[in-house]
Amino acid sequence: MAMMPALERDLNNMSEYYESGKTKDASWRESQLKGLRSFIMEKQDHIMNALMQDLGKHQLEAFRDEIGTLIKTLNLALKSLKDWMSGKKAKLPQIALLTSAEIVPEPLGLVLIISSWNFPFGLSLEPLIGAVAAGNVAVLKPSELSPACSSLLASGIATYLDNNAIKVVQGGPEETQQLLQQRWDKIFFTGSARVGRIVMSAAVKHLTPVTLELGGKCPAVVDSLSSSWDIGTTVKRIIVGKFGTCAGQACISIDYVLVEKGYCSKLVELMKVWIKKMYGDNPQRSKTIARIVNKHHFSRLKSLLDDKMVKQSVVYGGSMDEENLFIEPTILVNPPLEAAIMSEEIFGPLLPIITVEKIEESIKFINCRPKPLAIYAFTKNQTLQRRMISETSSGSVTFNDAILQYAADSLPFGGVGESGFGMYHGKFSFDTFSHQKAVVRRSFLTDFWYRYPPWTLNKLQLLEVSYNYDYLGLLLVLLGLKRPSKRLISDHI
Ligand code: NAD
Repeated sequence: MAMMPALERDLNNMSEYYESGKTKDASWRESQLKGLRSFIMEKQDHIMNALMQDLGKHQLEAFRDEIGTLIKTLNLALKSLKDWMSGKKAKLPQIALLTSAEIVPEPLGLVLIISSWNFPFGLSLEPLIGAVAAGNVAVLKPSELSPACSSLLASGIATYLDNNAIKVVQGGPEETQQLLQQRWDKIFFTGSARVGRIVMSAAVKHLTPVTLELGGKCPAVVDSLSSSWDIGTTVKRIIVGKFGTCAGQACISIDYVLVEKGYCSKLVELMKVWIKKMYGDNPQRSKTIARIVNKHHFSRLKSLLDDKMVKQSVVYGGSMDEENLFIEPTILVNPPLEAAIMSEEIFGPLLPIITVEKIEESIKFINCRPKPLAIYAFTKNQTLQRRMISETSSGSVTFNDAILQYAADSLPFGGVGESGFGMYHGKFSFDTFSHQKAVVRRSFLTDFWYRYPPWTLNKLQLLEVSYNYDYLGLLLVLLGLKRPSKRLISDHI
């Protein structure tokens, strides 16, 4: 609690700064977005080094998943800012003759962003871009499990952004709990469902709106594909979608694969070939696959394989280097469904393959479990694609690829059910940190007598007509040239 008075003072100052209206200016928002872009571009090497230090992430992966995506988002935000900020015209019912209306986005105020360690820059700055573009003041709490990245975020933001409005608080659960005791206008959380519950409980006190970006088990359904090109491409995309995204420590990484029994051995053999082609005979030496974040997560993953039946199901890989926190890409076929590896989110480079008799059964398999953040289905079968969309529920469905949806600014990124709620990326991030205010401008020129008491049946009929006709119909009824064809509640009076 030692940090409480200083924290409260800082937050009070930030609120006052917000009240001054400074952060609402388009020019302020633009300058902060440009500051963030300069930070990422000028400190690109530092970012890559920090990601290497904390997670053993290869520079290319660091650019693909964090630096590159952030620069892309910032460019979009800078290009679209004026449009996003502008009010959008809205239609009104006929009764509001000579009235105009618009929806005006306004910032929420003081917002808290709590992020995770696996994409420390992306998961911190993607929401921050939305918060700043929307004109808020913001506190970012990155994860203590990626300390080099968190410290670079703190120093970068202190140097490149307006610190009256944007601050980084470093620390773990205790510091986060202290932050959660404060009054916020929005909390945006990325992490586990366990901590998501803590966040929601804290938000209840001030009725603070929250966005929860959680995780879960994301399945990949692999249909029997006939062309060798399609199969090869599928296998490459699965391998990169699993082992090539922070070694499977990604919320949208493929958690397990569903495939027809008769197709499984072909899939496994091809996976072995492509793992070797991509990562060589010794994947650890290739320095292309990230390491496990810390000893705790290493032991957690190791213990998933401890179960005898699970161990027996390993058909490839399985070697582990505890000292260097490295786990080889590992494939399992049909581990017991009740084992932890199939009931908990794996979040690491272990890939169970589960066989089904007919690929259509995968729909039921998925529906018997919590709603995933992402579903991937490798199939050219249009009927199966349609069924996947309409009969399952998930944050997203991607056909014939994995992870791609994360990079799309035009798509909302977020979960449903147990995988979270709320969404961001592109304009969705701006909207997540905005209130959509309804603005109505009424003229004094027209006024309808029938909206005022004393009430009569005739006035009720005219109100009905106003709600159910366009202007011409309304005029004809008023002039007595048309009789209302539909009698509504006035019939009952
Ligand atoms: P986590 O929930 O342990 O930590 C997230 C944040 O909460 C961190 O900043 C941490 O400091 C803080 N925290 C941890 N314990 C806390 C406590 N007791 N009280 C208050 N704050 C606490 O999650 P993680 O290990 O960082 O990330 C892994 C989980 O996050 C996985 O389930 C993964 O799927 C999910 N995730 C989701 C997304 C997404 O975009 N949907 C992205 C990355 C990770």
